[in-house]
Amino acid sequence: MDKMVITCAVCGAETMRKDNPNLPITPKEIAQSTYEAYKAGASIVHLHVRKNDGTPTQDPEIFKETIGLIREKCNIVVEITTGGAVGMTDEERLLVVSKVKPEMASLDCGTINFADEYIINTLPTMRNFAKEMNKYNVRPTLECFDLSHIYCAEKLIKEGLLTPPYHYGLVLNVPNGLKYEVDILNMMVSKLPKDAYWTVMGIGGRASLASHYGAIALGGFIRVGFEDNVNYSKGVLAESNAQLVERAVKISKDAGLEIAQPDDVRKMLNIRNV
Ligand code: ZN
Repeated sequence: MDKMVITCAVCGAETMRKDNPNLPITPKEIAQSTYEAYKAGASIVHLHVRKNDGTPTQDPEIFKETIGLIREKCNIVVEITTGGAVGMTDEERLLVVSKVKPEMASLDCGTINFADEYIINTLPTMRNFAKEMNKYNVRPTLECFDLSHIYCAEKLIKEGLLTPPYHYGLVLNVPNGLKYEVDILNMMVSKLPKDAYWTVMGIGGRASLASHYGAIALGGFIRVGFEDNVNYSKGVLAESNAQLVERAVKISKDAGLEIAQPDDVRKMLNIRNV
């Protein structure tokens, strides 16, 4: 790894204004926060959108409006969620792939606890999502919340439903899921296909910051943002997504890494021209 790729997950589906009043919610706010994150050094935005009251939605029109506003400001790579929010149907989650045709999309690779709820992804669901992404030439981020998810992704690879270059998202420390621990991250990384790219997301302030160092130590990429963590430090709320990106940039540069630009990511992950 010569360059560090920083993804910013600017709002997510579950974070609310009561958690951090600086959370962007409307398309305009999300676009502005994305632009600030881009200027700070993020090359990918992981995008969720909300209704004006803050409720998560997979409405393709709101995604289109938000991406349009982002595109007026910068050329950051746009990755759309297909995880959506807890309780959404598969159809609801997947519609954005055909309607919006983003450069990248997340593809959840299994089922896991999420606080007192659970996120359900059966293999047939995953096959369906992978096929739809192939159809529109959307590069998936294979989100693995558990070791078993890496094996599910491997099954999709064997079935010919995923093609390299692979990009994994290792999501650790969701409430009641697999914790962020150095040995766990190391083991997960060791099970990925050779030459796969990966981004680690530690959920919650402590895990988030620790995961930056895990990424640097093991050759992966970093994700920050209000979806994963609303604090800058213990008990101190982050002022913006950009502030979290700035710290990730500093840590990466201190470790001797260059920061990737959006076009570096497009080349690395062989993302189609849009
Ligand atoms: Zn997300």
